[in-house]
Amino acid sequence: MGMTPRDSLASLRSRLEERAASVLAPAVGVRENFREQLQQFFDLFEEALETGQTAPLMPLLRAWSADPTETDLQRDERALSTLIRQIALLTQETARELLPSEQAMELLSNVWPMYLDCLEQAAVYETESRTDYLTQELARLNRIVARVDKSKSDFVAVAAHEFKTPLALIEGYASMLDELLPPEMEQFHALLLGMRNGLKRLHDLVNDMLDVSLIDNNLLVLNKQPVWLHRIFRLLQAELQPVLEQRRQTLEIRSFPGAEELFFADPARLYQAFRNLLNNAIKFTPDGGKITVDGRLMSGFIEVTITDTGIGIPPEHQETIFEKFSQLVDVSLHSTGKTKFKGGGAGMGLPIARGIIEAHDGSLWAESPGYDETTCPGSTFHVLLPLRTQPDDPTLSKLFAGLASQNDSTISSGESSSFSKES
Ligand code: ADP
Repeated sequence: MGMTPRDSLASLRSRLEERAASVLAPAVGVRENFREQLQQFFDLFEEALETGQTAPLMPLLRAWSADPTETDLQRDERALSTLIRQIALLTQETARELLPSEQAMELLSNVWPMYLDCLEQAAVYETESRTDYLTQELARLNRIVARVDKSKSDFVAVAAHEFKTPLALIEGYASMLDELLPPEMEQFHALLLGMRNGLKRLHDLVNDMLDVSLIDNNLLVLNKQPVWLHRIFRLLQAELQPVLEQRRQTLEIRSFPGAEELFFADPARLYQAFRNLLNNAIKFTPDGGKITVDGRLMSGFIEVTITDTGIGIPPEHQETIFEKFSQLVDVSLHSTGKTKFKGGGAGMGLPIARGIIEAHDGSLWAESPGYDETTCPGSTFHVLLPLRTQPDDPTLSKLFAGLASQNDSTISSGESSSFSKES
C-alpha cells in the first residue's frame, strides 16, 4: 500500500483539526489560539508517529497544563486529560470515516499507544499544577490567618495596657474613700466593698490579657526558684477553701511521689497555672462534686493530674479549648462568676496555663470520656513538668546548694508570702 501511518494521519489532518476545533473549543472555553495550538500538537504528533518517540510532545502538554483556568483549578477539573481523550476519539472517528478500514486499523494501532503515553503524562502534569495551586492557596490563607491573629493579639496587648492606668486611678480613689469614710457609715463601706470586688475582677482580667499577649509573643520570663509542688497545692487549697465550701465540693490533694521533690521552676507562675486548672475543675463540676490532685514521678519528669467529676469535654474540643478566647458554652448565656457552675470566663485560663507550662518545657493536655451534663463523666488535666534539679543560672546553684537536704520549714515563711502576694 505504501502509506505510512504518518501519511495516513496527514491525509486526515485538515478534517481532524476542523472537527477538533469546533467540538473542543467550547469546552476549552477562554483558551486563546486554540486552533494554533492544535496545529502545533498535530505537527509534533506526526513526527512522533515516524520516530515512535512521544517525548517531543511533552513540552507542549506541560505548557497546556501550566495554564489552566482558575475555575479548572478550583473545581479540580482535569481539562488536559479530557482534551487528549477527546482528540484521540476524534482521530478514531475521522479515520474510520475517511480511510479504508485496513488503513484506518493500521493508523489507529500506531496512534493509540502514543495517545496513552500523552494521557499518562498529562495526568502527572495536572496533579503537579493542582498541587502547586493548593500549596499557594494554603500559603495565602495561612498569611491571612496569621495577620488576623496578629491584630487580635496586638489589640489585646494595647487594650490591656490602656486599661491599667484608669484602673489604678479608680482603685486608688476607692481605697482613699474607704479610709476617709467614718467607720459608722456602714452602708457606704458595703457599697465600696462591692466596688472593690468588681475592681479586683477587672484587675485580674487585665492581667490575664497581658499574660496572654506575653505568651503569644514568647515574652513570658520565668523567675526560677526552688519549688515543691505540695506547698503550691497547700496554698491553693487554702485560697480555694471558701469557694469549695460554697459549692460543697471536696478537693483531695494526694501526696504523690514527686510532690515533695525540690525542683527549679517559677513558683508564682506554676501557682497561677494550677489555680486556673483548679478554678476550671470547680467551675465545670456540679455542686457536691469532687476534685482530685494526684501525680507520679517519672524519669526526669513529674506528672500532675487534676481530675474532676464534672460535665466533661467532647473529644473534638479537647485541643481547641487551649486556644485563646475559646469557650464551649454559648457566650450569650454567660453567667459571669469565676467559680459558679459553668460560669463564663473570657477563655484565657487554659491558654495561660499551657503557656506557663510550655515555658517550663513541659506540656499540658486534657482527657475526658466526653461531654454529658447529666452523667458527668469528668475530665482530667495532665501537667508534665521536667524535674530540673539544678538552676539554669550557675550562680544560683551556689546559693541554693544544700537546700534540697534542708528542712522545709527554714524558708517556708518567706515563700508563702511571695505566693499569697497575688498578681
Ligand atoms: P474560661 O474558663 O474562661 O471559659 P478556659 O481557657 O479556662 O476559659 O477554658 C476554656 C473552656 O474549656 C471552658 O469554657 C470550658 O468549656 C472548657 N473547660 C475547661 N476546663 C474544663 C473542665 N475541667 N471540665 C469541662 N470543661 C472544661
